[in-house]
Amino acid sequence: MTTPVESEEHRALRAAVSALGTRHGRDHDHRTLWAEAGELGYLGVNLPEAYGGGGAGITELAIVLEELGAAGCPLLMLVVSPAICGNVIARFGTEAQKRAWLPGLADGTRLMAFGITEPDAGSNSHRITTTARRDGGDWVLTGRKVFISGVDIADATLIVARTEDARTGKLKPCLFIVPRDTPGFRRRPIDMDIAAHEKQFELTLDEVRLPAEALVGGGPSHASGSGGEDAGLLQLFAGLNPERIMTAAFAIGMGRYAVARAVAYARERTVWQTPIGAHQAIAHPLAQAHIDLELARLMMQKAARLYDAGDDLGAGEAANMAKYAAAEACVRAVDQAVHTLGGNGLTREFGLASLVTAARVARIAPVSREMILNYVSHQSLGLPKSY
Ligand SMILES: Cc1cc2nc3c(=O)[nH]c(=O)nc-3n(C[C@H](O)[C@H](O)[C@H](O)COP(=O)(O)OP(=O)(O)OC[C@H]3O[C@@H](n4cnc5c(N)ncnc54)[C@H](O)[C@@H]3O)c2cc1C
Repeated sequence: MTTPVESEEHRALRAAVSALGTRHGRDHDHRTLWAEAGELGYLGVNLPEAYGGGGAGITELAIVLEELGAAGCPLLMLVVSPAICGNVIARFGTEAQKRAWLPGLADGTRLMAFGITEPDAGSNSHRITTTARRDGGDWVLTGRKVFISGVDIADATLIVARTEDARTGKLKPCLFIVPRDTPGFRRRPIDMDIAAHEKQFELTLDEVRLPAEALVGGGPSHASGSGGEDAGLLQLFAGLNPERIMTAAFAIGMGRYAVARAVAYARERTVWQTPIGAHQAIAHPLAQAHIDLELARLMMQKAARLYDAGDDLGAGEAANMAKYAAAEACVRAVDQAVHTLGGNGLTREFGLASLVTAARVARIAPVSREMILNYVSHQSLGLPKSY
């Protein structure tokens, strides 16, 4: 007998989430699905039990997102709210921050967005200029962000800023919890050409005044010893690895959905004597897409296991590779699925054409294909740094 890659619990979780996803399907009502998944404990499966979560890890949260995606109803905010924000707060937040946020993030009744990208920095996050200035006991934030997902539906956004004295030096990030209706915190929806439930926003932070408690981890003198002002880089890495792993899960789920639709079509559609799936020109690219998605999942599982074991450094390389492999596999799978359906691939009725743009998101965000190749060239292969 072969040893399964996943435990019995993992396979049971997959089956249960898949059943939920199948019940909701492609034409699901997003809010109803989010609420139901929250009630069932799926949204906070990675968060600590002491704060209402499931006490498992990013491995399990990735299973949830992948299976919902494979059923045609991915929840993009899973990447952001419990995976980035929940992990950062669980690992680095003060006791008060954990109590205030984790139970709501875990059951899905509260949502947190994540804002790092800036218009003038883009892929180079060392160039972010959103600045946090101390004013008495408060912090005052000024800057701009772009492409931030779900700010309208999130109770708060975790904003990556830098302290004023570090503006020109090496990136010394600080993470702040900014409630949606804080004065000076303005958002403008971006007219994206993606068929998705979650909107992206351009944000302006105009002298946004926040209390000291808004800084993740509290000030440097905080009792935890992991003061937010100095621990920002660690906090950021704690959030960025889950983000890459979850983007991989998002891409693998979408790719599986596309391949399954194409396979079902190719088995039925007959224009000569046999179904089109009998032609190797149709069958082989679908088989390749399936193999690529399976391989990407293996890398994602490796990254998730390393992260859950506390190996942030090892997880960093694996999470980048998993995100790369999954995004590329997803883009190719969707392309081949659309092609398999011929003209129907471009109709709304069959629902695949809109995935062409959606699949590209995983290639661009949260870190682009080229930046991962830069990272692997430099960090893994030891080639000269090119950026
Ligand atoms: C749907 C969607 C949702 C998003 N949600 C969020 C969110 O919730 N929060 C958030 O903070 N951000 C979010 N983003 C932003 C996303 O992370 C950025 O778009 C991404 O990091 C790329 O930055 P950029 O768009 O500025 O591209 P740029 O940095 O301008 O890059 C443009 C192109 O140049 C290439 N390039 C840049 N530098 C190099 C180099 N040195 N070598 C080779 N090629 C290079 C890139 O690979 C890319 O192809 C989202 C984006 C999208 C599309």
